[in-house]
Amino acid sequence: MTIKIDVDMTKCQHYGQCVFEAPNIFRLNSDDKLEYTAEADDSELANVEAAIDVCPMQAIFIVD
Ligand code: SF4
Repeated sequence: MTIKIDVDMTKCQHYGQCVFEAPNIFRLNSDDKLEYTAEADDSELANVEAAIDVCPMQAIFIVD
């Protein structure tokens, strides 16, 4: 099973807290802008949920 991840880039301020919680999913590129993998294995669920919890902009969502 996989999970689908969406980030509202109009909210994201590229602070990068999510990168620390789920480094396999979220990364900051060379311009310090957030990039992310939109589909990931279930095994990443706990990490993604942790990223959702720490995101100060509440910009991360798991989509059905
Ligand atoms: S924690 Fe939230 S605001 Fe910060 S980079 Fe990640 S998605 Fe963007």
